[in-house]
Amino acid sequence: MNPTSQSRRTKELRIKDYDYIWHPFTQMSKWFQEDAPIIDRARGIYLFDTDGKKYIDGVSSLWTNVHGHRRKEIDSAIRTQLEKVAHTTFLGLSNVPAVLLAQELIEIAPAGLSKVFYSDNGSTAVEVALKMAFQYHRQDEPFSRRTKFLHFTSSYHGDTIGSVSVGGIDTFRSIYKPLLFETVAAPYPYCYRCVFGKDRETCSLYCVSEVEKIIDENAREIAAVVIEPLVQGAAGMITAPPGHLSLIRKLCDRYGLFLICDEVATGFGRTGKMFACEHEGVTPDFLCLAKGLTGGYLPLAATLTSTKVFDGFLGSAESKRTFFHGHTYTGNPVGCAAALANLKLFKKEKTLARLQPKIKYVAAELEKFKSLRHVGDVRQCGFMCAMELVEDKQTKKPFAVAQKVGHKVILEARRRGVILRPLADVIVIMPPLVISQKELSTLLNVTFESIRAVTEQ
Ligand SMILES: *Cc1c(COP(=O)(O)O)cnc(C)c1O
Repeated sequence: MNPTSQSRRTKELRIKDYDYIWHPFTQMSKWFQEDAPIIDRARGIYLFDTDGKKYIDGVSSLWTNVHGHRRKEIDSAIRTQLEKVAHTTFLGLSNVPAVLLAQELIEIAPAGLSKVFYSDNGSTAVEVALKMAFQYHRQDEPFSRRTKFLHFTSSYHGDTIGSVSVGGIDTFRSIYKPLLFETVAAPYPYCYRCVFGKDRETCSLYCVSEVEKIIDENAREIAAVVIEPLVQGAAGMITAPPGHLSLIRKLCDRYGLFLICDEVATGFGRTGKMFACEHEGVTPDFLCLAKGLTGGYLPLAATLTSTKVFDGFLGSAESKRTFFHGHTYTGNPVGCAAALANLKLFKKEKTLARLQPKIKYVAAELEKFKSLRHVGDVRQCGFMCAMELVEDKQTKKPFAVAQKVGHKVILEARRRGVILRPLADVIVIMPPLVISQKELSTLLNVTFESIRAVTEQ
């Protein structure tokens, strides 16, 4: 951005940001060079910085926003709740919006899920599922050897130590290895770089047969299988071939393993259905929800599970079957009120029905990206889209990390009025579901031109 266009207020805020703030997932030694926008306000799919510059929120404020910013229905639900109470504890007490939201969630969740456990973010939603699955087996059998989790290569389930343990992305986990618990890793079908050299049609079956071998060798030590259904988000929007999830469900059933579906990214319409599991008629034993739960307004998460799991925790106080886990802000009433308003908007605006033609439009538009010289792969699952940038399309040779091509593309897009956040050299497009076709067209055109400007200069 042209530094002379900075207002005095922006300059002062930037200096304070540099002085006081440590940003997440950010190499702070380079942060100063970026002059990142300081967001002041937002409306619909647009963000406005402190200089009044307008941007399309191209990744839904990190995959959270659903119906746009400043939705009056959600704003006023929050205000109404504030006039009652902002927070009370969920330990030994209950509250109105948390009760009503739990019922709503069970009503829309895959059949068979019947209980809701609240927490604050995606990482904790996963931690809760891991601890519940583990404890369930321990209670059943005190010397249970079911102490491990099977997770997939390149998986991402959050940043707390437990969720990093079941993560498969080296950049995020290698340094912490001595702190992480032992897991069993299995291949996820990353068809573009298939390690088995299979085509997409046979890939799913082949990958699952590899998973089966691994499960077969470790079955009695596995407490649960953890998966990002249909799409591995942080790995670079890796889309699994149709049928993959239901094959994994069948494997879990055959070996008596719990299935934890981490729908923190895929939930709330991103894949075109409310939950990704619905595409394959799968009910997991645990469903982890966060990001889109409040429409992108407030930090709130939920772990849904079955009566079978819940009942395993029932007993006398001395039975030690209590789930000793909870966060101070568990079941926060304001967050739950926002989530209720979010779900109400899905119904009122027929968000999912109105999304379908937009998904088709995106699919058609994405074809154009394949003509770009450095776009190696284009992936889409509903409103989760990505272009993988490579140095050489034929050999799939990636760009050198130091070139920071993905980062350069998003800086270029920013100059052109679009906020994106890449995953290394994978450019992600994941706008709020409410975006119009015209706005989609602008978002995709800017992205196309930014990729071309950076990679074909
Ligand atoms: C973002 C994400 C998480 C972590 O959620 P936080 O709210 O950042 O803790 C976990 N799982 C998946 C699939 C995610 O995309």
